[in-house]
Amino acid sequence: MAVAPSPAGIEIKYKKALINGEWTDAASGKTFDTINPATGEPICGVAECEKADVDMAVKSARRAFETGPWPKMNASDRGRLMYKLADLIEKNMEELARLESLDNGKPIADSMAADLPLTIACYRYYAGWADKVHGKTIPVNGPFHCYTRHEPVGVCGQIIPWNFPLLMQAWKWGPALALGNTIVLKPAEQTPLSALYVAQLAMEAGYPAGVINVVPGMGPGAGAPIASHHDVDKVAFTGSTEVGHLIMEAAAKSNLKRVSLELGGKSPNIVFADADMDAAVDGSFFALFFNQGQCCCAGSRLFVEEKIHGEFVDRLVAKAKARKVGDPFNKQTEQGPQVSDEQFGKVMGYIEAGQKEGAKMLCGGGRVGDKGYFIQPTVFDDVKDDMKIAQEEIFGPVMSVLKFKDMDEVVQRSNRTAYGLAAAVWTKDIQKALRISNGVRAGTVWVNCYDVFDAAAPFGGFKQSGIGRELGEYALEHYSEVKTVTIKI
Ligand code: NAP
Ligand code: MG
Repeated sequence: MAVAPSPAGIEIKYKKALINGEWTDAASGKTFDTINPATGEPICGVAECEKADVDMAVKSARRAFETGPWPKMNASDRGRLMYKLADLIEKNMEELARLESLDNGKPIADSMAADLPLTIACYRYYAGWADKVHGKTIPVNGPFHCYTRHEPVGVCGQIIPWNFPLLMQAWKWGPALALGNTIVLKPAEQTPLSALYVAQLAMEAGYPAGVINVVPGMGPGAGAPIASHHDVDKVAFTGSTEVGHLIMEAAAKSNLKRVSLELGGKSPNIVFADADMDAAVDGSFFALFFNQGQCCCAGSRLFVEEKIHGEFVDRLVAKAKARKVGDPFNKQTEQGPQVSDEQFGKVMGYIEAGQKEGAKMLCGGGRVGDKGYFIQPTVFDDVKDDMKIAQEEIFGPVMSVLKFKDMDEVVQRSNRTAYGLAAAVWTKDIQKALRISNGVRAGTVWVNCYDVFDAAAPFGGFKQSGIGRELGEYALEHYSEVKTVTIKI
């Protein structure tokens, strides 16, 4: 199958770092290429920031936090700025969606239907919080008046991944800006373009210089100096568990900056024999294959009750074979390329490992086309709990089906992993739904649905899937310090 090239002619306007409200070359003058994953060809060069640039960005964020208009601004005005940013993103929605699909490879239909609307909703949700975060009056003993204030943490370093670039930026910027923090963001090296575009929109919305700084670059070059910086008050990271460990270590060794982490997952998706079969097949397929399988919460261990296993797997395979893989800019496309050559190689390595360890590959397993990083939707059956493909995060269009017989067994097996990000259960029996929901060690449980996200609903992991929660009211905790004030009466 041939893969048509993505349309040229998307003009890339923002390729530099944004520091103190100015578009700036890296101090070294270096740039790196961001690649179109549908062709493997460079899109453009982008400023490659390193420690010197991070230092400048942190200085500018510190200045903006302590002096200037930002700390004096009314909370409601901070909210209005964020509504304005949301409006500007909405106004430029199509261009941003095209940029996201060009840089990441995701189908344009998904960018338009999921990434952009969720991003806009997230900014609007947190705009509403700006003037609704407040402390309490505490009835302490003695002649004292005691109250708490929720103050911003300060300069927040934010390091985000490539799978949902715009959305991860929104999850980080929303709560940080609502509470009056300032920001130094490092987008992923694979997908820096949409972050820079939104940074420009933030300037147009009227954020004061220095409140928002964006330093594109490599993980070790630009990410690590943020995590170890002595003048960064908090670091928020989304990405691999491996790098999550490094972030926490760097925070511990520098200034004990606050840490929130959203890391990997190996989420169990459990289908009982009494489930609505059509919904469970479609939902389980979506749970794994959405976004080329590049979701931290992908339903990557599909437990199917033995009684229905045969029919269920047949239907999944039929769907996998019918999936439209190809040019992200074709509106009919359902699956685009993996984000990079490196990820392509990693996913192909897991497909090989699955076959070696004796899982049964029912479809897929190969490359699609001869350029770009496209992989056939792949389904493995007869997967055992201890196989590599059942333990490690594949982050690609590779489904692992495991069989189970009863409730206690499946709860235990679900939890036999270092991760605890999400889980799902498909059943018409409320008892089963509740026993799974209570029994799984995961930050999110979906019942008869999957990947239902809302800016108001918290998301994050148990165990090695992370620390803290993003979205909803819970995310505000990570961007505020509580101050207790006691006054003698
Ligand atoms: P990653 O290395 O964890 O990347 C995430 C972010 O961290 C990127 O901005 C990255 O910069 C940065 N980074 C890398 N090393 C760093 C360091 N030493 N200090 C500070 N920041 C650093 O993830 P990846 O290599 O792109 O993907 C590897 C695997 O991670 C995937 O296969 C998947 O299993 C998992 N992953 C999970 C998520 C998630 O949503 N939880 C998202 C993406 C990937 P660069 O862009 O330069 O690498
Ligand atoms: Mg790219």
